[in-house]
Amino acid sequence: MIALGIIFAIIFIKFKPIYQVNIAGKDIGYIENKDNVIEKIEENLENNNETIESITFTIKPEYELKLVNRTIDTDEEKVFEEIAKNTIVTYKYYEIALNESVILNVATIEEAEQLINEIKEQKGKEIGENNINLTVSEKYTEETVEISQIEVARTNLNDRVVTAINDEVARKAEEERIRNMPDVNGIKLANLPVTGTITSRYGVSSRIRSSDHTGLDIAAKKGTPIKVVSDGVVTFAKYNGSYGYLVKVDHGNGVETWYAHTSKMYVSAGETVKAGDVIALVGSTGNSTGPHLHFEIRINGEHVNPQKYLYK
Ligand SMILES: [Zn+2]
Repeated sequence: MIALGIIFAIIFIKFKPIYQVNIAGKDIGYIENKDNVIEKIEENLENNNETIESITFTIKPEYELKLVNRTIDTDEEKVFEEIAKNTIVTYKYYEIALNESVILNVATIEEAEQLINEIKEQKGKEIGENNINLTVSEKYTEETVEISQIEVARTNLNDRVVTAINDEVARKAEEERIRNMPDVNGIKLANLPVTGTITSRYGVSSRIRSSDHTGLDIAAKKGTPIKVVSDGVVTFAKYNGSYGYLVKVDHGNGVETWYAHTSKMYVSAGETVKAGDVIALVGSTGNSTGPHLHFEIRINGEHVNPQKYLYK
């Protein structure tokens, strides 16, 4: 009995009981107390933010109680890191969308509500007038997501939503502007070729011309950009007698627009152009007494009065 007591005493002087931790059959080290590690992981994650929905271990650690030599150190830090690596954390977050397209994610509902309220105060008029729908939905990360990916959204929240609203307002205004522009034989004109003073109208006769005026003259400074009035294909871009440097654009449906007396041309025949593209600069080439754009609209080859459509 005494002998047995002595043996136990020797064992406790020389050895200590600790847990050896295994992940998928791999030893990762020793720890004093197995509950501490899980608590530590949970505390660590939860202290960082309040958005964690759940914590799942992909591979559960296994613990084996062992008596080992007292000189063996425990590896709390290393074991903690290994277990954390095998943990999936699901974050709850809030998605803010403008007309169904996501602008940003925030971590808490309070943040989302505060943001929406601030935006409504600042941009309420635009939101109302443009049918802008701002929505907040509760979401959960499906994969392992670093909390920093959600945190990123915290910076300049307000700016990002305001920018998205401004973009949407501008897009709608542009749509509306084009809706109000005239059609020529089913072709929508999107803009004026230049802004300036009308110096000679369609159909008038003049001593400098052999026939009645086939287009509209708009005086503008030499070098003023000339914008094509609708999408189309350039069919002509050359010097042409009294027209000087002339650009013709075919818009389909038999509709063509002509831009004459230009000082410089930026397009060549065969090129596709978009409404608003700068195709040439105002000049005074050909039969011209000063810098201006001679602008024609032709339907099936016949010139028509441009002021039926533009510069009314
Ligand atoms: Zn003219």
